[in-house]
Amino acid sequence: MRAIVTGSAAGGGFPQWNCGCDGCVAVREGRPGFTSRTQDSLAVTSDGERFALVNASPDVLAQIQATPALWPRAKRHSPIGAVVLTNGDMDHILGLFSMRESQPFALYATASVWAGLEASVLLRTLKRFDGQVVFRPLALGTEIELRDAAGDSLGVRVLPFAVPGKLPVHLIGRSASSSEDNVGLSLREVDAHDSPALTYAAACANLNGVDLSGCSVLLFDGTFYAEDELVRQSLSQSVAKDMAHMPISGPYGSLEGLASVAARKIYTHINNTNPILGPGEERRAVEAAGWEVAVDGMEISW
Ligand SMILES: [Zn+2]
Repeated sequence: MRAIVTGSAAGGGFPQWNCGCDGCVAVREGRPGFTSRTQDSLAVTSDGERFALVNASPDVLAQIQATPALWPRAKRHSPIGAVVLTNGDMDHILGLFSMRESQPFALYATASVWAGLEASVLLRTLKRFDGQVVFRPLALGTEIELRDAAGDSLGVRVLPFAVPGKLPVHLIGRSASSSEDNVGLSLREVDAHDSPALTYAAACANLNGVDLSGCSVLLFDGTFYAEDELVRQSLSQSVAKDMAHMPISGPYGSLEGLASVAARKIYTHINNTNPILGPGEERRAVEAAGWEVAVDGMEISW
């Protein structure tokens, strides 16, 4: 099994178009140790020919262009047979609307995420003909084999599990929240029964009820380094908790909370304000604790 991190930044990307924080300035200026990143997405494959895309980033077209494995093999073709959504946040769904051009694919999401999409008139662009986008529901705790729109297997199994999160900002006040609003995924090869898993949880408010101990590779929420990162940088009144992301550092942070997980551990979905995007002490602290920091184009085998 192989995954390509097609995007490793949180919503907004790195740099973010309207941001002049220290990190965004540094990456714009090309300072050593700073690398630009597009918004969070992952391409997963078992054979290198057929791919499932985990989340459809607003940057999906540039991500496909930057990833030769995702280029068409024929005049009208895409190796991407399915898109799997982990929540309905804009940085995870906007790319769907760039994936038109009458290309069929399967779309996997929980019922609540699907209901949020259905509320958008834009979804009609993906329903121009029967079978353009085939919706297949994800149910918490039920492992399924991913298939393309025609029903052919992609060679990947996925187990969705509930992760504390929140409704997408555009649906707050419009829908009731549900345990299906935000999920993590365990991804394995389809045939081998106890095959190792890559677990992906790019948005995680806390670890209550979340068991990440059994995976071989963990891609985890690296949005914020500190709980009050945005407040300290005078960018927002919101702390990490308000945005349903647990910080990396501190007593309730993921460095401490996931210290006992033996997997290869990688932070992704990293906000442009997060100092681990630079070469300083915070970056050294996560690396000293055994974590890697995802970058676009990173390849992971498991
Ligand atoms: Zn910034």
